[in-house]
Amino acid sequence: RLLQTSSCVHNIQRSSIENIELPQGNLIATVFRNIQQWPNKTAVECSVTGERYSYMELWDASSRFGYALKGLGIGKGDIVAIISPNCPEYPIALYGAFMIGAAVTMVNATYMPGECARQLENSGASVIICHNSLDSIVDEALRMNQTHVPLITIGRSSLLHGVRNLIDIITDPTIAHAEIEPLSGTEVAVLPYSSGTTGPPKLASLTHNAITSNLTMFTHPAYYQYPETTNDHQLSIMCHLPFSDAYGLGPLNAYSLHKGHRLVTVPQFDPNTFVQTIQRYKIGVLHVVPPLIKFLAKSPLCDKDSFISVDRMVCGGATVSSSIVMSLKEKIDKDFFFQEGYGTTESLVTHMSPFGSTKLGTAGQPLPNVQAKVVDMLEGETQPQGVTGEILIKSPSVMLGYHKDLKATRDSLDVYGWIHTGDVGYYDEDGYLIIKDRTQDYIKVNTFHVAPSELEDLLHQHPLVEDVGVVGVPDEMAGQVPRAYIVTKDQPDKEMAVRDICNYVESQVSKHKQLAGGIVFIDELPRSKTGNLLRRELKKLCEK
Ligand code: AMP
Repeated sequence: RLLQTSSCVHNIQRSSIENIELPQGNLIATVFRNIQQWPNKTAVECSVTGERYSYMELWDASSRFGYALKGLGIGKGDIVAIISPNCPEYPIALYGAFMIGAAVTMVNATYMPGECARQLENSGASVIICHNSLDSIVDEALRMNQTHVPLITIGRSSLLHGVRNLIDIITDPTIAHAEIEPLSGTEVAVLPYSSGTTGPPKLASLTHNAITSNLTMFTHPAYYQYPETTNDHQLSIMCHLPFSDAYGLGPLNAYSLHKGHRLVTVPQFDPNTFVQTIQRYKIGVLHVVPPLIKFLAKSPLCDKDSFISVDRMVCGGATVSSSIVMSLKEKIDKDFFFQEGYGTTESLVTHMSPFGSTKLGTAGQPLPNVQAKVVDMLEGETQPQGVTGEILIKSPSVMLGYHKDLKATRDSLDVYGWIHTGDVGYYDEDGYLIIKDRTQDYIKVNTFHVAPSELEDLLHQHPLVEDVGVVGVPDEMAGQVPRAYIVTKDQPDKEMAVRDICNYVESQVSKHKQLAGGIVFIDELPRSKTGNLLRRELKKLCEK
């Protein structure tokens, strides 16, 4: 395949596409801007119950719901919390809030009461929309916070008394439609928690303009070419990644409804349902994370037949190995188009493989209107292509800052608008981004920096190693030394394995990179849902 080369002037990386004009204002107008073209097509449908809303019904329900929220005194500047698994009512709650200018904080539906209480308190949400399966969690969270916040439930059988139900609201003929609140677009639209792979979780304030900009950048034909919606054809997109996550929220806000696609919501991931949903709904595009590709490549549930409808796969959230992608393609005997994207909760999607020009093993190139640079981690000097450092991004999609946390905002966003991603990587000669590590994970051995990923890549090549994570442990002489946590392929003799692996590392890398902190065998490594290694958890193991 012909690779596209992105632009690099004064070591600032940009897309090969010129900057494009970006819409402003209430994002609801952009998401629904083409609704007249497909009013009766299905907008969102539950993969389990089959319950669905057409585009017109979704619009109608959202605007009634917005009206009801207004009746509760909610409006511009207020925050609405949604805690629910993915379901067709999720966008109604979300868009109802956007319509009247309120912001939404999405609470992870797997949270325990304490985590939920913290997010409700940090965000200052003044109304909660809660799925009835999570009633008791929210009830307990409110008790912990000792607050009374109005609740609206999704689903019929709520345990809680005196609580209104979303379905009753949207089917109540006495409830009128809300007008779209005119906004400049600089108002906050969503407050997701950043992933928690860095420090304590923080709420990122993302504006309407940040989201509509991202939608427009991401769907530029140089990066995004999904089939057009016609009378006879409608692309189906599976929504299995949780809407509470910035990546999972993408189909609702960024790349779907303004194109007339059908969203198929999956409340909870389970391998059987996942594969059946692909077949039943003839899913055309799958947005995935690396652990899911691994699962698909290995699971006997997934075969050639189950993938007949899928001709595109977009992967993000963590580095995916090209060998896994190739083995999936071989297994299902299909050369589907694979794209990798890179982004963060704080910046949304900033890099994608250009359409038709994927380079496996890379996180793609900057989207239009994005500037990116790599800086030296000690001096802050901008580095040329090929040199590793911290990735900094400037983009209209970057957050305003962390909600009510000026210090954390200042630590990550500089006065010129560059966000420090905390990711370490480089651009190759064609301007494709390669992510290697995170800044705070570097191990400092005497004066040398050791990248955990370098040792992990090396150890992955050892025949005994199934999975591995490397962290620094304190050392009196060197400050820190590397330690490897290893999941082995078989059940080897531990002493022999340690000797064998240490000899191997000794023969491959310099002295300061040796595993002087030892090897620990472990059953499973702590990983986030997207497959990122949770080094913080490994460090906690070290402390123990
Ligand atoms: P989150 O804020 O949860 O979206 O996580 C963002 C982090 O995920 C980034 O800072 C990266 O560390 C990681 N990430 C996202 N996309 C990729 C990718 N394509 N390759 C490697 N790491 C990625």
